[in-house]
Order: sequence, then structure tokens, then C-alpha cells
Amino acid sequence: MQMQGELVIYNTLSRKKEEFKAIHPPFVGMYVCGPTVYNDVHIGNCRTFISFDVIYRYLLHLGYKVRYVRNITDVGHLENDADSGEDKIAKKAKLENLEPMEIVQKYSNGFHDVMKDFNNLAPSIEPTATAHLLEQIECTQQIIDKGFAYVSNGSVYFDVQKFAEQNNYGELSGRKIDELLSATRDNLDGQDDKKSPLDFALWKQASPEHIMQWNSPWGKGFPGWHLECTVMSTKYLGEQFDIHGGGMDLKFPHHECEIAQNKAATGKEPVKYWMHANMLTLNGEKMSKSTGKFFLPAQLFSGDSELLDKAYSPMAVRFFMMQCHYRSTLDFSNEALQAAEKGYKRILIALQQLGDIKGASNSNVDVASLFKRAYDAMNDDFNTPMVVAVLFDAVKEINLLKAGEKNISHEDLSALKKLFDDFLFNIMGLKLENADDHDSALSKGLMDVILELRKDAKSDKNYAMSDKIRDTLKDLKITVKDTKEGAEWNYEG
Ligand code: AMP
Ligand code: ZN
Repeated sequence: MQMQGELVIYNTLSRKKEEFKAIHPPFVGMYVCGPTVYNDVHIGNCRTFISFDVIYRYLLHLGYKVRYVRNITDVGHLENDADSGEDKIAKKAKLENLEPMEIVQKYSNGFHDVMKDFNNLAPSIEPTATAHLLEQIECTQQIIDKGFAYVSNGSVYFDVQKFAEQNNYGELSGRKIDELLSATRDNLDGQDDKKSPLDFALWKQASPEHIMQWNSPWGKGFPGWHLECTVMSTKYLGEQFDIHGGGMDLKFPHHECEIAQNKAATGKEPVKYWMHANMLTLNGEKMSKSTGKFFLPAQLFSGDSELLDKAYSPMAVRFFMMQCHYRSTLDFSNEALQAAEKGYKRILIALQQLGDIKGASNSNVDVASLFKRAYDAMNDDFNTPMVVAVLFDAVKEINLLKAGEKNISHEDLSALKKLFDDFLFNIMGLKLENADDHDSALSKGLMDVILELRKDAKSDKNYAMSDKIRDTLKDLKITVKDTKEGAEWNYEG
């Protein structure tokens, strides 16, 4: 494993930064709550998934073998996130006159397309709630058997107060049972079956018109939203696993309830490090479908909205997100996006220029310290804005090299390229967007290899080979000129 200093992670559970130690190194289990696929993901949702993509990428970069599980919620997420209201997917199915599973497929496909646009890596496992109904029924039974849940009118509820007698319900979110109780006292609408308004459904009885329902020991119904994540995370990662992530808004009640379910079922604290990505906001307000204050990725990429000055490419948006720490809120604005777009372009231009710079016998560019600063930043709870600052410092060095005001050795030159390959592309997940950028980077890389081979042939006095290389390139309209600094190439004409 190529550890580069100690990785420190902010643990939402302990509310402090902790040195990361995998439970079974080099394996790391990471679970992130995925989307509820009843409509298109908005750019706020994307921020959370991009944040965890960077975390996944960095763990891989460090040499961990990561099993990254990100679920698809295809049942049980009710309209108002509590235990009342219609199922979001069932409601949309009625609205669009489609089967619920058609809705699920349609929006899962859209979600995957968007994840690809943003260059997010696919998770190792993407389980769905409807494919894990048996496990959810079993887990519900286990919690009943342990005395932490009760059956009421065909539904099964988790008994929060009973759990809280022996456990710290609220440990993740910092909520207190008494305060929660007084906040919910007047709000018992649709919750008559519950002993207490704090209780939440593990299994809900389905009314006859409810289209998504399954048989269970308690009658026909469907699972509660929180249960799927408990079941699917532990099924694939074990009763105790390393990292559980999601957006900040899921801390309570979703993740708090997950902890309670796990502890009730197994007696164990399921997660070693809880991590929460902060919200993308619009004029300071959380982007959200329910308030209508959001952008879809497609709108951003096409510029199709009154609120947008222009279209923004997926990589400009991703770079914009990298300029903010995942635990801070990030406010969307045209100005900030345009600045990010410019900044990313500046880096790409510098990278192109780096390809033209020749190595010298001496070096006064401190590439090692740029690397160290970049690793220190990532090790400090994935501080991508700091990494971006390091890359901009590297750009300054490239400009000085280009102007002939600094020299760089061959080794440092390769290391400087590696800095961008590692941190910009592999870890922060940026990529070259248009075919021209891509082709020119590819040609440069290939020409480096070819000219290196030609140099080797020459030093072996294999002039037949070195001439063959030059002549073949000439046929391709590429001229090679030998200079004091080494071979240079150019397109003819
Ligand atoms: P949902 O489909 O509503 O369950 O949301 C999917 C993910 O997006 C969850 O991890 C949410 O916490 C996250 N999310 C929702 N709104 C935002 C936002 N405005 N900014 C960042 N993440 C968000
Ligand atoms: Zn979840």
C-alpha cells in the first residue's frame, strides 16, 4: 500500500477528525445512500455523489481494495420522508401511467448517464431495495424478537423509547429524545398506529390501492425506507464496516434510524466512520425538488434555464465542486461557475505547455514539495480546494519554465506531469472533455514514446531503426528535428 502520510477523516459520529484505520486492511467497505429513482437527479444530489466518488478514488489511489456499495431506493421512500404519504415511485407511476418498475428503470438509467457525464466511477455493488425484501422481512422479525419493535394493525414499528432506555438514540445527529418528543407532540396525523410519534416503520401495511406491496408475516405491505440501507449495507459489507456516507440531510432521521435498527438487531455499532457531504445551495437555500429550487444536470449542460447565463460543461461543474470542501455548503452562482471554468481551462493550457518543455540538467522547481502539499491536503479529510491551490501553484511553475525563468530536470518534469495525472485526473476525477483536447494529449503521449524509442535506437547505433522511425513519421506528415535539447516534432504544413 502506498500510504503517503496518515489519512484523517472527519467522523460525524464522534464529531472530530480521526486517523483512518480500516477494519480489515487493505479492504475498505464503504456504503453511500443512493438516489430514490422517481425523477431526475438534480445537481445537488450530484454533488453528494461526486464528493463520495473523490473519497472512493483517493482510497483506491492509496492502494486500498474498496468495496463501494451505493444503493438504489426503488420502494418505501414516502412523500414526506416520514411514515405517511404516498410512495414516491408509486405516485410517479400513476402520474406517468407506467409500471413502478418502469419508473425505476427510466430514472436509474438517467442517473447512470449523469454519473458518467460527471466521470464518477461506478460502485462495486448497486443493490436495490425491492431485490432485498426477504432480508428486510428477516431483519424486521429479528428486531421484533429482540423486543425493540411491535406489530400494530399490520404494520411494524421500531420502539424508539424502548431502544433509548439502553442506547443513545440521537448519538449521530445530536438530537435529544425529550426535544424530539415535544416537537412532535401535536403532529400525530396518520400516525395513530404508533405508540409514540418518534417510532418509525420497519414494515408498513399497504392499503388495497397501494400498487407496490408484498406478502409478509404481518400481511401485505412494503418495507420502511430506513430498513433497506441497514440490510443492504451489512449484507455486502458485514455487521461492522468502515465508512457510511450520504448527504447531510440524511443524518436525521435516516442514518440515526439505521444505527438504531442495526444495534437493535445485532447489538453492534454498524459503522466506524460516518461521513456527510454538505448541501449545494441556490441563493443560500438547499437545492431541492420539493421547493422547486434546483437545476437538472441537463439544464446546466445546455444552458436551458432563465437563471443560467450560459451552458457549463460537466467538467467545469466538477471542477467548481472541487474548489469547495465536501463538508462546507457550496452556493451555486453563474460567476463562481464561470471562474471555475476559466480556472480549469488555465490548468489544461498549462498542461499542454508542459508537453513542450524540455528537461534540463539542473532543476529549481520543487516538485516534491508540491506532491507533499497535495497529499497533506487529501489526507486532511479530503481537502480538494487545497489540492486545487497546489495545482495552480504548479501552473505558475509551468509558466516560469515556459518563459525560461526556471529549469527542470527530466525526472522532475515527469514527476510534475504525474502530479496532474494523479491529483487532477485520477483522484479528483477530472477528464479532458472535447475530442481535440483528448487527441492532442494522446498524440503528445504517443510521440513521447516514439521519440524515446528512436533515441534508444540511436544510442544502440541502430541507425536503420532510427531512420525508419523518422521516415515512417514523415509519411504521416510529422517532421522530426534533432536539437541540442533533444528531438522535436511538428505536423508538416
Ligand atoms: P434522495 O434521492 O433525495 O434520497 O437524495 C440522494 C442524495 O442526494 C442523498 O445523499 C441526499 O442527501 C443528497 N442531496 C439531496 N439534496 C442535496 C443538495 N441540495 N446538496 C447536496 N446533496 C443533496
Ligand atoms: Zn440510506
